[in-house]
Amino acid sequence: MLHLSDTIAAIATPPGEGGVGIVRVSGPQALTIADKLFHKRGQVVSSLPSHTLHYGLVSEPETGARIDDAILLLFRGSRSYTGEDVIEFSCHGGPVTLARVLESALKAGARLAEPGEFTRRAFLNGRMDLAQAEAVADQIRAKTEAAQKVALQQREGKLSHEVRRLKDELVGALAAVEVTIDFSEEIGELDYFQLAIRLKGIQEEVERLLETAGRGRIYREGIRLAIVGRPNVGKSSLMNALLRENRAIVTPIAGTTRDVIEETANICGIPITAIDTAGMRETEDTVEKIGVARARAAADTASLLLFVLDASQGWTSEDLEISQYLAGKAAVWVLNKVDLADSSEISDDIHKAAAGSAIVAISAQTGQGMPELERTLADSILGGQVSAGEGAVVSNVRHQRALELTRDSVTLAYQTTLQELPADFITIDLRSALDSLGLITGETATEEVIHRIFHDFCIGK
Ligand code: GDP
Repeated sequence: MLHLSDTIAAIATPPGEGGVGIVRVSGPQALTIADKLFHKRGQVVSSLPSHTLHYGLVSEPETGARIDDAILLLFRGSRSYTGEDVIEFSCHGGPVTLARVLESALKAGARLAEPGEFTRRAFLNGRMDLAQAEAVADQIRAKTEAAQKVALQQREGKLSHEVRRLKDELVGALAAVEVTIDFSEEIGELDYFQLAIRLKGIQEEVERLLETAGRGRIYREGIRLAIVGRPNVGKSSLMNALLRENRAIVTPIAGTTRDVIEETANICGIPITAIDTAGMRETEDTVEKIGVARARAAADTASLLLFVLDASQGWTSEDLEISQYLAGKAAVWVLNKVDLADSSEISDDIHKAAAGSAIVAISAQTGQGMPELERTLADSILGGQVSAGEGAVVSNVRHQRALELTRDSVTLAYQTTLQELPADFITIDLRSALDSLGLITGETATEEVIHRIFHDFCIGK
């Protein structure tokens, strides 16, 4: 259980050295704590106006020993991030300085904040709803610009606005049904036909929002791409070309990428975790055998495969074997080393074997064909869907599940309406649809769910 009567403190900037570092304090004692730590000639912090900044000295409350000169930012009550009094000490960004300032705040009466506790307080104090609070963590963790944009929109309330609109419509429908239960004599019987039209409309709107979940989650969570193919076709080189850095080990000796190497690249805004697998082939070497097993496992957990062929060697029986293993899995084929081949034409054999999978001719070494490969990957992943876009996007599996529950309840209410069953049955389903929507914005989320969400945050956020 959290006590909002506590005053909490934490270092809000990442660990390590930096130009500035911030210690944040929030709660009813924030101003009195600042009075003990911060000295500005002739003024006490607690008498300063809200939303102002001040230059002064920070010192230890007990000994008076100087720690740093700093900028203090002061936010009073309801218009602060947390909805409580907040003080931020913007200090020189060294770990020892920040630890001493934090230590002093704790000695002066604050307690160390739990992970995500500042944002949790913002949620509890009504400064933001749960979806917006979750987007704070999403924005911090975003690995690509597209992911960052989706998070920003959600934090600014785009999804919450859609959810509230749906809620209003459901409440309207519910009221229309309930009034016929309570006042059937004055109002008359329930108009099942009108209600059915109304519910169908709501159902379609929920469905439209759910349709954004596929690409929303791809932008937020990214996808796993396993690079497969027989040894020495250029998997590691391709991985490096995708990452534009030398993370994987490249050697001219067959079978040397023995482990599975993972790294995330930004490909057309999608965070793609590329998994470089050991060459897939039967082998007697035990270390390599483990590598092959891992390659298979990685390929099984990836949502997309990149199957690499060597243009200088053409279509081989080993390629055929691997392609059979790939059958039925989503794959993009790559004909690598076209710089060594007489022509970059893709042979009929390969076209036939690819059976409709996209094939791109590239050279991992010269970079030829790489932009086309990146576009092909993005198209395969998004299935031709538009980019992150401007509308509300569902990017979180928790929200997706809640919307699915909402849709199911609205569908039930719709069917019950079509069957012209008693109004009470309809209200039950509409209420549960409202409860499901409330999971997204937090009104109906359990303490346990809320705890889990904020516990994944970093300290100081
Ligand atoms: P892996 O075993 O499939 O991971 O293959 P590597 O990436 O280790 O590459 C095997 C060899 O092929 C290395 O000598 C690379 O320099 C070379 N190689 C990879 N891609 C290309 C390419 O596009 N063109 C040429 N000429 N050589 C390449």
